[in-house]
Amino acid sequence: MPNSDDFLKEFHWLMDVLQDIDVGLVVLNKDFEIELWNSFMQNHSAKLPTHVLGKNLFEMFPEVPAAWFQRKVQTVFTLHNPAFTTWEQRPYLFKFLNYRLITGVADFMYQNCTILPLTNTSGQIEHICIIIYDVTEVAVNRLQLQKANDQLHTLSRTDGLTRLLNRKAWEQSLEEEFKRFQRNNAAVSLIMFDIDHFKKVNDGYGHPAGDEVIRATANILRASQREIDIAGRYGGEEFAVILLNCDADGAKVFAERLRQSIENFTVTHNGIDIKYTISLGISELGPCISNPTDWIETADKGLYQAKENGRNKSVIFSKK
Ligand code: GH3
Ligand code: MG
Ligand code: MG
Repeated sequence: MPNSDDFLKEFHWLMDVLQDIDVGLVVLNKDFEIELWNSFMQNHSAKLPTHVLGKNLFEMFPEVPAAWFQRKVQTVFTLHNPAFTTWEQRPYLFKFLNYRLITGVADFMYQNCTILPLTNTSGQIEHICIIIYDVTEVAVNRLQLQKANDQLHTLSRTDGLTRLLNRKAWEQSLEEEFKRFQRNNAAVSLIMFDIDHFKKVNDGYGHPAGDEVIRATANILRASQREIDIAGRYGGEEFAVILLNCDADGAKVFAERLRQSIENFTVTHNGIDIKYTISLGISELGPCISNPTDWIETADKGLYQAKENGRNKSVIFSKK
């Protein structure tokens, strides 16, 4: 049996450990008054125990969301079970500046918290202990990874030259819109268009000039489309737009506006002015079109006719 001297010594050690441990420890009573404030809390809040002990938590730290925290603590008192919060649910409980120079991205400390019920000598719970873990490093790494993944995802869907959707991503959208039409039957049209005599641009002015023409075409398309329209680069000098809530006549108006904008535009590359035109095929989705490929082929037939009819034209093709 340890004698009371040993017990006191151990108790003293324990108190030292709690003081110096690299997690925050806060003990609260039922009135949310602070009864313990270890050195982690002192260091990060720049508030001494003498300053906070006996004070109400919410008055001292207005950043702690009172209603939410009281509800959380209430369950600890009534169920006698610990409660947890993670940085993903709530980045922090106490707003502490982040001193760790790990990344410079987070200017506050991300925290996970555990709220423990504390039993007194008569078996009742009149206090709780909040344990605060600094998880800034994990959180920042995770957030950076997430951001990198998001960027990668966007990049994998984007055409490098034009910043429009690439063919694969655009075809996915086409499939989605095709399926949506099966459900809601709302008018939706497709325009496929192609730069006229583009080979001559390449041959006459060089490949970089051709690239510039493709980029300019994408910019004009972007400026002409509505937010909801889905534009993509389908191939070399071929583009595609899905026009939502738009029948063939509406698509024709759009196509003509785009055609004229391009006709009236001049690309200047290395001081040389380049004029060019496009031809467009239009297809409104309907029951005769049985799948997304069929839809593209129908619009392509319109495009072919536009080329046949002399280029710089738009043609609606209706599949019977
Ligand atoms: P048409 O009026 O019948 O469409 O004639 P065209 O010369 O435009 O058509 P064609 O399909 O014969 O030629 C397309 C050319 O586009 C061939 C290819 O070398 C070129 N091309 C494809 N992708 C790119 C690209 O990214 N940059 C440049 N500069 N040229 C490209
Ligand atoms: Mg072509
Ligand atoms: Mg062409």
